[in-house]
Amino acid sequence: MGPESDPDAVVDPRLRVYGIKQLRVIDASVMPKIVSGNTNAPTIMIGEKGSDMIKEDWGIRIRSGQVRYHGISLDTGLGSGGTPLAHAVDGARLVGMAGGGNQMHKIIRSYAAIGGLLLRRLRAGCVSQTAPWGCYRTCNATLECSALKTRPVVATPRHDRVRGRKPPAGISYYNYDRLDPESPIINRKTLYKEYDFVIVGGGSAGAVVASRLSEIPSWNVLLLEAGPDENEISDVPSLAAYLQLSKLDWTYKTEPTGRACLGMKNGRCNWPRGKVLGGSSVLNYMLYVRGNKHDYDHWEAMGNPGWNYENVLHYFKKSEDNRNPYLAKTPYHRAGGLLTVQESPWRTPLVLAFVQAGTELGYPNRDINGADQAGFMVAQGTIRRGSRCSTAKAFLRPVRLRKNIHIALNSHVTRILINPTTMRAFGVEFVRNGHRQVVLARKEVIMSAGAINTPQIMMLSGIGPRDELTKFGIPILKDLPVGENLQDHVGMGGFTFLVDKPVSIVQDRFQAFPMTMEYVMRAKGPMTTLGGVEGLAFVNTKYGNRSWPDVQFHMAPASVNSDAGARVRKVLGLTDQLYNTVYKPIANKDVFSLMPLLLRPRSRGWVRLQSKNPFVAPLINANYFDDPLDIKILVEGAKMAVQIGEAQAFKQFGTRVHQIPFPNCKDFQFGSDEYLECHIRTISMTIYHPVGTCKMGPAWDKEAVVDPRLKVYGVKGLRVIDASIMPTIPSGNTNAPAIMVGEKGADLVKEDWLHKSQ
Ligand SMILES: Cc1cc2nc3c(=O)[nH]c(=O)nc-3n(C[C@H](O)[C@H](O)[C@H](O)COP(=O)(O)OP(=O)(O)OC[C@H]3O[C@@H](n4cnc5c(N)ncnc54)[C@H](O)[C@@H]3O)c2cc1C
Repeated sequence: MGPESDPDAVVDPRLRVYGIKQLRVIDASVMPKIVSGNTNAPTIMIGEKGSDMIKEDWGIRIRSGQVRYHGISLDTGLGSGGTPLAHAVDGARLVGMAGGGNQMHKIIRSYAAIGGLLLRRLRAGCVSQTAPWGCYRTCNATLECSALKTRPVVATPRHDRVRGRKPPAGISYYNYDRLDPESPIINRKTLYKEYDFVIVGGGSAGAVVASRLSEIPSWNVLLLEAGPDENEISDVPSLAAYLQLSKLDWTYKTEPTGRACLGMKNGRCNWPRGKVLGGSSVLNYMLYVRGNKHDYDHWEAMGNPGWNYENVLHYFKKSEDNRNPYLAKTPYHRAGGLLTVQESPWRTPLVLAFVQAGTELGYPNRDINGADQAGFMVAQGTIRRGSRCSTAKAFLRPVRLRKNIHIALNSHVTRILINPTTMRAFGVEFVRNGHRQVVLARKEVIMSAGAINTPQIMMLSGIGPRDELTKFGIPILKDLPVGENLQDHVGMGGFTFLVDKPVSIVQDRFQAFPMTMEYVMRAKGPMTTLGGVEGLAFVNTKYGNRSWPDVQFHMAPASVNSDAGARVRKVLGLTDQLYNTVYKPIANKDVFSLMPLLLRPRSRGWVRLQSKNPFVAPLINANYFDDPLDIKILVEGAKMAVQIGEAQAFKQFGTRVHQIPFPNCKDFQFGSDEYLECHIRTISMTIYHPVGTCKMGPAWDKEAVVDPRLKVYGVKGLRVIDASIMPTIPSGNTNAPAIMVGEKGADLVKEDWLHKSQ
């Protein structure tokens, strides 16, 4: 370090390398002369001072509560100088990598792709396995990780490790790498021939089951997942919709009925499902909702002992790590579980108006997962430090080093192997990298492939309705109503309110770079919104009652127009005519939307085989509005949505309903019951909650596929543990209930086998 006039100087007094922009040196090499004493403390001092200089030079400008970063890449490392530096610059939300010798590197990178927001995320716990720019597995050296804050972390260069030089720092780095509970799971290439339990599908429920069963050290467990691991896009809450129609989605579509989805291409609704470790908890909008206590008391009353509210509440709480203290301390929640639940750290003023509007309509602002459900609330979601907390992150990553759990990705199960004489399931057949393989199950095969794929695989294996299996020449092992009883929450999509103030999420207005930096470095900002949904409410129409509301509202500070047709219209599958007529004229305008949805549909659909080929998608008939009461309730819900939009609380924003009529509804008076019904039938929006296709019920229930211990009737060694067992759909979003089924299902397995061995 020295002034410009010093011919020996490499860096200036602000530690910037002469003649090269954006390159600094911050370590012992900047000392113009050796200090009179040992050099560690002075080097730490340089790190401290260097970080302050970076802050000053690049600036963290705080304007109206928003933080913007103007620095792209900073150079440092994790030696004596680099460690305090990384911690000092914005609370250590930086990634540190050590270069050779004392040369230090620090890189914060983000870049825009898909719609300006594709992100390589370098924050703790949610990091990529391989850095996009080269040889470093950088993320292992990420410093911001709550579990590691107490540990001294000193990283060493990867290439030092590669060359076999392993200084003590190297050991520390190695342990960090191996022991970080949030490191990605290990994808096992070589599998045993036989396991105690083979679990099919690592989704919301399957990940929980695998994690909990592997708590018994004497059991070994194999989890087979058809999809790959999560990626950086799926980490970002606001990008939830970008995963649909991607390779992480099974990309299903419903059959046309002529009663619903009329504004979608070919009258078919898109039905995304997660094809990825973590399943639909990786695609979902992260909303944490448990349903109504009467739902579960009703399950028990239907002949399912042990499934009443009090019982399932224990399992909801078992998973939960609620990070909002105002809730964590109530009897309905807890902190300390594996699944992180919290509000998004960012919100628009519109959601506060929404909650306020609820009080005007006589509904309190309350915990909709608490003592009573009817009310309005700022949504809680399954996010951790601003990123998606899928079930793979919550339940599988922490157990990745257990010796008795193997996870095999990209392993598509095609059939359950069942001995027709003993009627016992003894293994599964699957295809991985084009090769057909078989694995055996000593104790049980557990189906957790979700409400569409579990029935498909069961039918392909000879368990299903006789007529259906006969159609495809599949030998019938057990005639059961598999695939029937399909239920989903259907809502009124695209119900849009214009506002006069710049308060909503408009893609045009958000600058990708500062927004991305705010997310990467501070886990805050618009990218942490729960798939765009901010507010939730449960209300009752004239057909329902206060203790068991029949309509839910999702409030989003955006609508179909907010990205000018780039994404949302595609994931909904809207026809060009509908989009161009109704939403294009207001592209990028400030809006919010309210989606009323039907909580307990009377209509029932089905999942059936389309082919004997396991790689051909099954047929799905959502059968929305088969029962006429369903649409009547939704029309009442739509009228309540208008009341909310017109409430005093929203007046400050100049709110009004967007009034361009749908082309197919323009014969009806805008806003009339007939018009609202037509709107609902046109954008009949799934909330992605299919359940019920392997219904749980007592032996006398003709519709039941599994008993209350989730064992398949008539087949030994086979259980279903996922959303397909739900006899009726819970009154709320289904991720938390599917996780609860996973928790309880795992306990049932433990009870049965541990009791047997005793
Ligand atoms: C787009 C979207 C948004 C949603 N938003 C919310 C929300 O905000 N809040 C909420 O509570 N709920 C939401 N849900 C619903 C919720 O996520 C699901 O109800 C829940 O994840 C279902 O859990 P599951 O375990 O039954 O199935 P899944 O989580 O779907 O898991 C099934 C797993 O099995 C795997 N699999 C399937 N077939 C095979 C095979 N042949 N071989 C091997 N593996 C196989 C799949 O790849 C998948 O990983 C949403 C769902 C979607 C799709």
